[in-house]
Order: sequence, then structure tokens, then C-alpha cells
Amino acid sequence: MTVTVGVLALQGDVREHAHALETEGARAVPVRRVSELDAVDALVIPGGESTTIDKLLRAFDLFDPVRERLRAGMPAYGSCAGMILLADRVLGGIEGQQTLGGVDMTVRRNAFGRQVDSFETDLSIEGVDDGPLHAVFIRAPWVEEVGPAATVVGRVEAGPAAGRIVAVRQGPLLVTSFHPEVTGDTRVHRLFVQIVRDSQG
Ligand code: GLN
Repeated sequence: MTVTVGVLALQGDVREHAHALETEGARAVPVRRVSELDAVDALVIPGGESTTIDKLLRAFDLFDPVRERLRAGMPAYGSCAGMILLADRVLGGIEGQQTLGGVDMTVRRNAFGRQVDSFETDLSIEGVDDGPLHAVFIRAPWVEEVGPAATVVGRVEAGPAAGRIVAVRQGPLLVTSFHPEVTGDTRVHRLFVQIVRDSQG
């Protein structure tokens, strides 16, 4: 079954996500307007700056429509800023920053601190087979805590941030602090495309 996955195309690595999705057998389309959102089975929210994406979602009249689709069960994958946008609660946000929500978790923006604001490490994700992934973090959030509805599926495994939660799943929603679209390893997208297929029954 070919599923159609939208990539929110307001900011960030839109082309890289689309390429990874197509490598994994999905049809990928950019989403900038409601008519495009209406045509997709699922949505990827790329990294970038969560405060900017929040503002652009409003400017493009997409904030409420995306939120409604999420509430109706649309699968979504959020990377980095996309993770922040899918969080129910944010620490370190700017005044007035809102999220779409959906995942019962609290994320902390820019959590890894100045010295290590960008770093790379190998880690395992539940649901991703064939060994560890190379994870690239760029001014990334981490997950401070998850509520009962959400499941931790990945943590930093080594270094000063060992133990920090960086991947979470809640039903058809998947979020990672890191950027799998920049490594050429499409296994996180494979997991998400499988989630989308499963949601189609
Ligand atoms: N620091 C950014 C934010 O708060 C996220 C960084 C990223 O997406 N690479 O939105």
C-alpha cells in the first residue's frame, strides 16, 4: 500500500525528509496549505526553530487544522523542533510559544547546553532493527518526563547526557530530538512509514 506523507514545508530539512520517506516507499509531498494537509495520510514536522514554525503555522492558517488532524488520529513524526511542536508541555519556551501537542511529555528546549549544543552519538531506538543509529543533535531538546500515555523508545547511551530521553512514541505519534534525515540512514523513516501503514488498517 502506498501511503502519502506530508512534510510540513515552512522551515527546515523538507527535501531530506521527503527523500528519506520516498526511499522507504511512501509518497512524500510538501504541506504549506490546508488543501495539501487534507490530502495526506500523515505529517512529518522537520527541525528548525520551534518558535518560528509556531508563528508560521499561524501565518499560514495551518495551526488549528494540523491540531485537529492530530486529535483525529493522524500519524505524525516530529524531529527536534518538530518534537517540541508535538509536545504537550515545553520548558524554556519563549513568551507566548504554543505547541500543537499530542504527546504526553514535557520537553526542554536547547537542553544540552552551550558546550554540547550540537553533538553526535550512536543509540538504539525501540522499533528500529539492525543495530544502533547514528544520531545527530543540533541545539536539540530532550524530554524531561513522559506521562502515562507516552512510551520512551530511545535514550542517549553515552557521554555527559547519558540517560536523557530523546525518542518517544505515543500511538501513531513518533518524536526524536535528533535529525535522522541528515545521515542517509532511513530506518527511523521506515519505522514511521510502518506506523502510517498500520494506521490505515
Ligand atoms: N532549538 C530549536 C528549537 O527550540 C530546535 C533545533 C532544531 O530543530 N534543530 O526549536
